[in-house]
Amino acid sequence: MSGANAHVVIVGAGHAGGTVAALLRQYGHDGPITMVGDEPIPPYQRPPLSKAWLKGEADADSLALKPAEFYAEASIDFRPGVTATALNRGEKTVALSDGSSVSYDALVLATGARAIALPIAGADLSGILFLRTAADAEALKAAVGPGKRLAVVGGGYIGLEVAASGRALGAEVVVLERESRILARVACQALSDFFQGYHETHGVRFELGCSVVGFEGRDGRVTGVKLEDGRILDCDAVVVGVGATPNDELARDAGLDCARGVVVDLDARSVSDPNVFAIGDVAHRPMPIYDRMFRMESVPNALEQAKQAASAIMGRPRPSGECPWQWSDQYDLKLQIAGYAFDVDEIVIRGDPASGKFAVFHLKGDQLQSVEAINAPPEFMMGKQLILNRKPIDKARLADPSVSMKEVAAQTAAH
Ligand code: FAD
Repeated sequence: MSGANAHVVIVGAGHAGGTVAALLRQYGHDGPITMVGDEPIPPYQRPPLSKAWLKGEADADSLALKPAEFYAEASIDFRPGVTATALNRGEKTVALSDGSSVSYDALVLATGARAIALPIAGADLSGILFLRTAADAEALKAAVGPGKRLAVVGGGYIGLEVAASGRALGAEVVVLERESRILARVACQALSDFFQGYHETHGVRFELGCSVVGFEGRDGRVTGVKLEDGRILDCDAVVVGVGATPNDELARDAGLDCARGVVVDLDARSVSDPNVFAIGDVAHRPMPIYDRMFRMESVPNALEQAKQAASAIMGRPRPSGECPWQWSDQYDLKLQIAGYAFDVDEIVIRGDPASGKFAVFHLKGDQLQSVEAINAPPEFMMGKQLILNRKPIDKARLADPSVSMKEVAAQTAAH
């Protein structure tokens, strides 16, 4: 049963879970809402954990999605520090770690993803850290500081943000990347080169094409990173930032269709059970503009899917599709990314990377698939629209910074 009186149970009190709870009330849901989360605190934003918060520029309160009293005031039965341990889809109940169980009419899985650990020698030494939760971030902040040597395993966005914040805190930072360039999985060569150069001017060292085979330690604490070529890099702390894996075990064990994430439709509804929804990092979702299904790890995706699920539960019209986007802040650089570079055959660079303000457009034929904009908000904003429109792009005008993005978009619309 869906509708305004249904008992909605939300598993996972993160960005997606907290948002769907608030949206249900905003949309007029007046039935019971139960939200269980295994972390001890109300839903909060993770992006600042590697950026402003880590550098000490934001306090803990500013991380919260809503003030702590919001949940009681909105009659949301929020149960912190409680893990959902099993689903019984026949009986429509969720078993909880406190020994109780809760029954639902509609169930929203918002269990997110967790950091991937390295299965190598010494991985359990203290000082080997991850960055997923506020508790992880506290541990990291305590470990970095002036003169500390920080090794970051993984040259993706989170690793690079940690490197930038580590430098801001006065640590010596080395980034260890298995591929021959940083951001290899997510960005083009031009962007990788740009970010590497920028980090190097801020004192970050890179070891590229290197494989970490173990960690060395003394008295249970990490003292070094061992590379495949035999070298040992001395360090005081390590951050492992090699990606995340979805927390979809509950769904798998309950027989829901999963494909590295719970498979859902355009309403964020499980394709195997109409009473179950999955949103945010744990969902494997359709993305019609690319005519494919995939899993995304971003705040805008968590918000969009929270809207989809809340609308479906309340019987409201399906929200219109959005262009996926995300961002990364490093030093004074604001990177905004719209779309995904699927099946790209051409790259157009607009602006001069040396100026620290430019955009990389990824095209498939004459269609824009994605844009990476560095300190270039108009390129990002218009790029997002162009990706959604799916209209042919005039590449020569796109490449010419003297033609405004508005004109590029207008010309594209006239095609
Ligand atoms: P989460 O926010 O991870 O919430 C899931 C919650 O469910 C967690 O609290 C988890 O512990 C809990 N849970 C899991 N299993 C259970 C269970 N069985 N029972 C109860 N609770 C459970 N995105 C951007 O767009 N831009 C950025 O700049 C950016 N920076 C980031 C920086 C960092 C350090 C991290 C970690 C992420 C960043 N992201 C960024 C990604 C973004 O934060 C995530 O995409 C977003 O948090 C996803 O929301 P979610 O609710 O799906 O998952």
